[in-house]
Amino acid sequence: MIIVLQPGLSDEQLHAIEDHVKRAGGSPVLVEGKERSVVAVIGAAKLETGLFEQLPGVAQVMRVSKPYKLASREVKREDSVIRIGEVAIGGDQVVVMAGPCSVENRKMLLESAQKLSAMGVTILRGGAYKPRTSPYAFQGMGEDGLKLLEEARELTGMKIVTEVMAPDKVEIVAKYADILQIGARNMQNFDLLKECAEIRKPVLLKRGLSATIEEWLQSAEYILSTGKNRDVILCERGIRTFETSTRNTLDLNAVPVLHEKTHLPVIVDPSHGTGVRAYVAPLAMAAIAAGADGVMLECHPEPEKALSDGPQSLTFDLVERLLRDLEAIAPVVGKRLGLSHRLPVPSKAGKKHHGSAHPEAVAFQGEHGAFSEKAVRQFFGDKAKTSPSGSFRDVFEKVVAGDAAYGVVPVENTLGGSIHQNYDLLVEFDVQIVGETKLRVVHNLIANRGTKITDVKRIYAHPQAAAQCERLLRQHPQWSVLQVYDTAGSVKMIKEEKAMDAAAIASSAAAKHFDMEILKEGIESDPQNYTRFIVIARDPLDSSKNGTRIDKVSVVYGTENRPGALFRTLEVFARRGVNLSRLESRPIPGKPFEYLFYVDLTGDLHDKAVAAALKELKEHITFVKVLGCYPSA
Ligand code: PEP
Ligand code: MN
Repeated sequence: MIIVLQPGLSDEQLHAIEDHVKRAGGSPVLVEGKERSVVAVIGAAKLETGLFEQLPGVAQVMRVSKPYKLASREVKREDSVIRIGEVAIGGDQVVVMAGPCSVENRKMLLESAQKLSAMGVTILRGGAYKPRTSPYAFQGMGEDGLKLLEEARELTGMKIVTEVMAPDKVEIVAKYADILQIGARNMQNFDLLKECAEIRKPVLLKRGLSATIEEWLQSAEYILSTGKNRDVILCERGIRTFETSTRNTLDLNAVPVLHEKTHLPVIVDPSHGTGVRAYVAPLAMAAIAAGADGVMLECHPEPEKALSDGPQSLTFDLVERLLRDLEAIAPVVGKRLGLSHRLPVPSKAGKKHHGSAHPEAVAFQGEHGAFSEKAVRQFFGDKAKTSPSGSFRDVFEKVVAGDAAYGVVPVENTLGGSIHQNYDLLVEFDVQIVGETKLRVVHNLIANRGTKITDVKRIYAHPQAAAQCERLLRQHPQWSVLQVYDTAGSVKMIKEEKAMDAAAIASSAAAKHFDMEILKEGIESDPQNYTRFIVIARDPLDSSKNGTRIDKVSVVYGTENRPGALFRTLEVFARRGVNLSRLESRPIPGKPFEYLFYVDLTGDLHDKAVAAALKELKEHITFVKVLGCYPSA
């Protein structure tokens, strides 16, 4: 049974409800959610719902039909996000856990940690206690292995996940680990589950070799049942079937099934799921496409020499390649890869400067819920403080004045083309590009609750958004399209007007933020709709810091208006073997039919060829400004 609480009930009312549950023979567990909070009634006793319905502060009493309560969606509607420091598991992030099957020695572990950390992996895996099918196989280093994991954490700042096999080892493993793993073979070791219910550390619960999803969720319920430990992560790692081509059969069905049944995060381990190195990357990609909250990968500096699970272990090169692919796939399902970011979350950056109350914020154009705000979160993580701004110019002004540490502005869209104003502002303002990010843009037709699509007569849309949804607009010639220079702002506008004959084009986040209804989802003319945003700051990126790998240089220059002038500049790059990945031209303000050329080069300013090309370029131009050098997205 669950007791849904009225919003804003008092502490006394809550205590009275909890006392009532106890007197009736149940145990109350408070589950607080953003949408609503509930008291879940745990215990075997069958209680009368009528007893509780009358109590002050109670909104509703419901029976839960499932054999698990605290793990169920009925108890908590929103996704649980488990936070370990700055690492978040669940929600709109995809977490990557990677490392060797077993901790074998200091050298291989620290090398693994450093390589993975440099790629942005936030959680290091490695077994110190190993459940091996054969008693004669390597059994793990035990506590010495835990100590090495601790050393790896100190060295890299990565979080640690490692297996605990026995109830009497929970204490010691919890002393060293950030997440305790319960292995497949122990999913129904009830004493171990009960012991993990007493600690306050996240538990990664692997699916048993032949466990049904319902049995698995009941094991999770054991850990949640005391109300002390609320942090369980489920890990699909393959089940035993008749198929023998792979070590196990990775059951990706489990991902959407679990997302429907439980609020707990679900990750997938394609290493044990397939047992074959070549199959790990395709299944990791499929897991993310299926909606998994993360992947767990086994890798090894020398897989052929691994003491356990070498055949399924990736090399670091393979991990790096896979991360790039996962980074591209995650936005397709509305998520982003939770790698440790190339730039730190802004904190002290702007403190020494004058300005508004949030000098550490990231400025973007638009209202909360704008795509630009999503781009900020994608780049800086969800803790970044965002500063909505009226115009692109305002974003640049805030950065220059120190009222924001960074600004994020769009520069090109795959359907709508370049956002020229921001090119001009890059020349006008003394700022530097320090990063970039590409966002998949899914548009929605959004209206006040109660408006039907047939009621719509007017569309409020940003011209870029309208351009990207041109096909739908063409199908409805009766709609008049009004220009608004802010996607989320157009939603706000029809909400404030209480317009019942209008709709806006914006993100689902904007619909949520303003509590509006989505009439039609995914209305962009082409699903391959991506916008590239640049991150601007006052100072150039310090490439010596946290191993940032710079591979893109943006430059703008002007040439004389005579035959061959542009050609001569481009020839310099070609002759010196510098790759030009983009060229854009813009009229020079006040000089009709004279142009500035914006170029993106592959490389770093310190690369010999790039430096020499830029030096030589100066002989052929009238003006040049290096707009920034940064890691490409
Ligand atoms: C492991 O992750 O090291 C492991 C032993 O996995 P499983 O319990 O899924 O076999
Ligand atoms: Mn293994």
